[in-house]
Amino acid sequence: MRGIAAAGAYVPRFRLSADELADAWGTSHASGVERKAVPSADEDALTMAVAAAERALDAAALDRVELTLAAAATTTPPLEEGELVPRLVRALDLPASAATATETGHTAAGAAALSRALDADGPALVVAADCPEGDPAEADHPFGAGAAAFVVADDAAAPVADAAWHTDETPGVRFRERGDGDVQGLDITTYQRDAVRGAVTEAVSALDVDPDGADAAAVHQPDGRFPYRATGDLPLSNEAVAAGTVVDRVGDAGAATVPLGLLAALDGAGDGDLTLAVPYGGGTAAAFAVEGSLSVAGIDDLDGGTEIDYATYLRERGYVVSGEVSGGGAHVSLPNWRRSLDQRYRLVAGKCPECGGVTFPPEGACQSCHARVEFEAFEAPRTGTIRALTVIGQGGAPPEFAELQQRDGAYAVAVVALEGEDGTATLPAQITDADPESVAVGDEVRATVRRIYEQEGVPRYGVKFEPTE
Ligand SMILES: [Zn+2]
Repeated sequence: MRGIAAAGAYVPRFRLSADELADAWGTSHASGVERKAVPSADEDALTMAVAAAERALDAAALDRVELTLAAAATTTPPLEEGELVPRLVRALDLPASAATATETGHTAAGAAALSRALDADGPALVVAADCPEGDPAEADHPFGAGAAAFVVADDAAAPVADAAWHTDETPGVRFRERGDGDVQGLDITTYQRDAVRGAVTEAVSALDVDPDGADAAAVHQPDGRFPYRATGDLPLSNEAVAAGTVVDRVGDAGAATVPLGLLAALDGAGDGDLTLAVPYGGGTAAAFAVEGSLSVAGIDDLDGGTEIDYATYLRERGYVVSGEVSGGGAHVSLPNWRRSLDQRYRLVAGKCPECGGVTFPPEGACQSCHARVEFEAFEAPRTGTIRALTVIGQGGAPPEFAELQQRDGAYAVAVVALEGEDGTATLPAQITDADPESVAVGDEVRATVRRIYEQEGVPRYGVKFEPTE
């Protein structure tokens, strides 16, 4: 039966505790959220989607070229009008012939993406990645971040037995005003709770499975109490709801919360188990009945992470950045940037046909024998070793990196050696997700796709490296 063949989860490294939040504001508007995940200054919905998808694709028993559909879901696309999926396709080296879909605008967007994948012919990739923002004084309190990726195929380890929908107009339940990044309408009132509970009950009741038999349920979870109340009219145990609830650990990750809850439940499920996934958003509830269990790469991220204080949180999220950056800096035109995407995402290097030396980027003369040659392109390994290291302190960053530095503090730049069968590619790169003082020459590092900087209003992405330990 068609369903989830492989899956990957990704949760950013930083965590803000409810205590830190309550200390800052005197109260926390995030009931049942004990800690929440905080994206780094160089992360967004796209980079989290790439990280989760890499894990899912590595775990899948298929080649990327077999994928016929790439579907993404988010309420926080990096650009308002500018597709997310083509960047995902390029960064993951998916076939350019794959159909694409971006679902956005409401927290049940992941259901729409999953539904398209279930209807597709051939293997499909679905990613839900999100990091909502709101007024720091209130709406922002529960907002976390994360991503869940699914490879959907026939003969799946976790087949989707049925899906059902219920939709109705419910004005004022969570929305963003046009042109405004902030989520509105998050005070959870009796009106909202009743609207969501009604839709959840109707969608689940329309499934051709008996909800009484469900071992776990991942239900719309804007806070830690909501899923229990939303399922009050259904025969689901508290244990079943707890098994699919992750908002207590990662915060409200918008369209990614229920997909992450589904993965947590499937990772902990037994072979004969039944898991329900019931996202809600914008007046629509969807219900999926998923059978079986799945080992989910990256699911340990849910309980990991590094605690940060509230001031660091405000900086990382970009709520506090001091002014515009002046000065020139390195300008790379969009056509030139586009030509370099394979090296920036996939570490495509050049091998010299004369001497066998490796040149990165694969441009100009051979770095070994200095001959002008047509390089043989190959992908360097994504894990390597730090050969040299420098820390760029406050004020020392080139202008295009100044905003990152204001948000994330000092950062390390390393010369990384990527040693593989085709030789060793050596390149300078930023180190991310690490205290710059804690990394050293000889450390092993792994490639991760992050925001490099923004120029001409367009976010530019590429590989940085993070410590493997
Ligand atoms: Zn050469």
